[in-house]
Amino acid sequence: MVVAIDGPSGSGKSSTSRGVADRLQLAYLDTGAMYRAMTWALLQQGVDLDDAEAIAAAAEKVTLESGTDPIDPTIHADGTDVADPIRSEEITSSVSLVAAVPRVREILVDLQRETIAASDGIVVEGRDIGSTVAPDAPVKIYLVADPAARAARRAAENGGADTAATELALARRDQIDSNRAASPLVKPDGAVVVDSTHLNLDEVIDAIVGIVDSAS
Ligand code: C5P
Repeated sequence: MVVAIDGPSGSGKSSTSRGVADRLQLAYLDTGAMYRAMTWALLQQGVDLDDAEAIAAAAEKVTLESGTDPIDPTIHADGTDVADPIRSEEITSSVSLVAAVPRVREILVDLQRETIAASDGIVVEGRDIGSTVAPDAPVKIYLVADPAARAARRAAENGGADTAATELALARRDQIDSNRAASPLVKPDGAVVVDSTHLNLDEVIDAIVGIVDSAS
């Protein structure tokens, strides 16, 4: 079983995907964490993120490892545990530049497909899972929520950050993610749209588990 969960920033993908994987005893892969970890490694090396060729060349040499336990997902870049640093404001504001570079996407999509192939069943979250990484996934979910609800959730996660500023930052990231040439954020063909605006986490997990159950 492969469950592909795509959607914009702040739609609740991570908590939902981990909860679904835990309930269904599946592995879990956070592909956003991989793009963030790649961004962290490139910044460590002092790569100019406005230089797509330099990004592509440096990305070839970065080693990423993702642990797929939904209770304790892990991410290492070049042997360093980067779970905390990849959530920094610096990474959040620059990751979409790195993710728009086609060679970076090829490298990470290959790694993601290897992880999927090695699993006995997995929930994979991202922006291009149902469209590009696993277009044959038997269950595809497109998780959405109103921009204000997404910003309020993200601001609360960030210890009460300013909601209006968070909404602007999310809109900027969505804009880059949806308009890039290489596998932009889209609702994949065959995806079921789940709107989490008025649902709590358990209700969203229940809805998706119900969709998986009826597909298997
Ligand atoms: O999901 P998260 O917010 O951690 O993703 C960080 C960024 O990584 C996204 O804004 C997007 O630019 C990129 N990303 C992507 N494709 C994916 C997952 C994430 O381009 N499958």
